[in-house]
Amino acid sequence: MKAYVPGSTIPGAAKLSSNENPLGPSPLGVQSIRDILDGINRYPDGASTALRTELSKIWSTGMENILVANGSDEVFTLLAAAWIGSGENALGAKETFSQYRYAVNLFSAEMREVHLEEGLYPLDPMLEKADSATRMIFICNPNNPTGTYHSHQEIDSFLARVPADVLVILDEAYADFADAPDFPDTAKLLAAYPNLVVTRTFSKLYGLAGLRVGYAVGTEEVISGANRASLPFNVNNLAQAAALESLGDEDFCQRSLNMVKSEKTFVSSELEKRGLFYYPSQANFICFDIGREVAPLWRAIAERGIAVRNLQSFGLPRMIRYTFGERQENIRLFEILDELL
Ligand SMILES: *Cc1c(COP(=O)(O)O)cnc(C)c1O
Repeated sequence: MKAYVPGSTIPGAAKLSSNENPLGPSPLGVQSIRDILDGINRYPDGASTALRTELSKIWSTGMENILVANGSDEVFTLLAAAWIGSGENALGAKETFSQYRYAVNLFSAEMREVHLEEGLYPLDPMLEKADSATRMIFICNPNNPTGTYHSHQEIDSFLARVPADVLVILDEAYADFADAPDFPDTAKLLAAYPNLVVTRTFSKLYGLAGLRVGYAVGTEEVISGANRASLPFNVNNLAQAAALESLGDEDFCQRSLNMVKSEKTFVSSELEKRGLFYYPSQANFICFDIGREVAPLWRAIAERGIAVRNLQSFGLPRMIRYTFGERQENIRLFEILDELL
């Protein structure tokens, strides 16, 4: 198995390489941690009851339909633990988040990966790779690292063609940022397809990447199966409290979403001015082509103040994934690119 390659940075650079929230963590989340610090001599609630209760209201579903874990990374591993093993296979894309591959390979199963189709997640080509040993399909929507998405209609008609005994994991880590009117309404899809499980995270919009909280929504059968693979106290007290409070932090969420919206417009138009190809983004980052390999330039860009994501490990060596920063950071990025390219 290959080791995970994280987005890197150097001291002094603005880290815009891991799609974290540049505005910081949710202030209400941080306050809730201060309030309970004196209670960390106690084990956490292993069932994350308060957080699951709140999430089940948001999703109009039951608590038994929600799994909270130590980041959505852990959700993928728990689902794979419950669903797949040696001699079986899962389907996914090549140019996508690497944790699906990791989770599947960890349980000695095969990951069958297909190239994106013009930047889009390869739904139909994946299905062509399915056979009787296929157990899981991973879809990243919007896709990391391209920021591209499939519409409600497209995901719906795909799900209609997937055999009922194959689990489809729809990773919506960036759905909070999607503003396309035809972006999937996954609560509706969950009601229609019992073999669908949707994952979300507190690491991006809510600014809690360092605490590690993510969750899945699915049928009781899928959720309880994955839960049995989990360690008893996988989500710590502080993470549970901060995630719960951040859900109600409307002011912080709105400020973050407004920033992403205006900076997406700004960065996209600066890329257009320079004739640099980019994928239209539905996420808090953008993926663009600099026409030559990024790796030899990465350090020079970082030394000038901005750490970007080199996409070599994603199979896109000439592309940069850039998390939208605040305006002065985005202006700086283009000064640096103008100097170096
Ligand atoms: C960041 C990210 C996640 C979130 O992972 P956590 O483990 O919850 O921090 C999940 N999927 C994708 C595609 C991501 O980019």
